[in-house]
Amino acid sequence: MTSKDAARRAKEFTPAEDHAHGKEHGAAPSVSSRIRARLQAAQERFHANDNIAPYLEPGEMEQLQAEVQARLEDVLRALVIDVDNDHNTQETARRVAKMYLKEIFAGRYAKAPAVTEFPNVGQLNELMIVGPLRVRSACSHHLCPIIGKLWVGVMPNQHSNLIGLSKYARLAEWIMCRPQIQEEAVAQVADLLQEKMNPDGLAIVMEAEHFCMHWRGVRDTDAKMTNSVMRGSFLKDDSLRREFLTLLNNNRG
Ligand SMILES: [Zn+2]
Repeated sequence: MTSKDAARRAKEFTPAEDHAHGKEHGAAPSVSSRIRARLQAAQERFHANDNIAPYLEPGEMEQLQAEVQARLEDVLRALVIDVDNDHNTQETARRVAKMYLKEIFAGRYAKAPAVTEFPNVGQLNELMIVGPLRVRSACSHHLCPIIGKLWVGVMPNQHSNLIGLSKYARLAEWIMCRPQIQEEAVAQVADLLQEKMNPDGLAIVMEAEHFCMHWRGVRDTDAKMTNSVMRGSFLKDDSLRREFLTLLNNNRG
């Protein structure tokens, strides 16, 4: 082996952890370690389904995308894929990094969508159902797609705020564009709508296909997962809950 080869191999086999902590050759810490340090200093949680937008500084998304691209290229090399000569995978690390940060996991990095709340001037106090909203997410266990539908039931009172119909979809998308667990995803949607609208009752139902069950594991093609969260009057009032579920089943067709 020539010394040039040795140098190349050493570079190729630098453990990812060294990159992660910016230890190699006394280099400046990576952008991900700078952001991580800020989150830790603030004692802020940064699980897969948490939003970290308040801890990002201008220009860091571009740097983060470049770092993720470099790490993904390492993953492809570790899978013994010849990214230097395989024309199909030469751009894969770049494409996947962009897809993670700007599309499928964008809800971790982007600020919450702007939503205007309106006072309930008409004093609406009838059950409202919104849906089905399209759900596109990914499971935090395998990063496989979760594709499904979401319904929202709202029981307003005269002090509640109302939001525009399209805003339910925007808010749900912001929560779903993160690696998720379905049970936690519906609870996060409920918390967010509760905070924006402050209704008497809130009900969320999500029905989704988990591709980690289709593509791998049991390879079941029909499995779907349905779960729900009921808050306030939906918990206390059996007839309201029944009315919601009946309307929902009609809506499902
Ligand atoms: Zn999974």
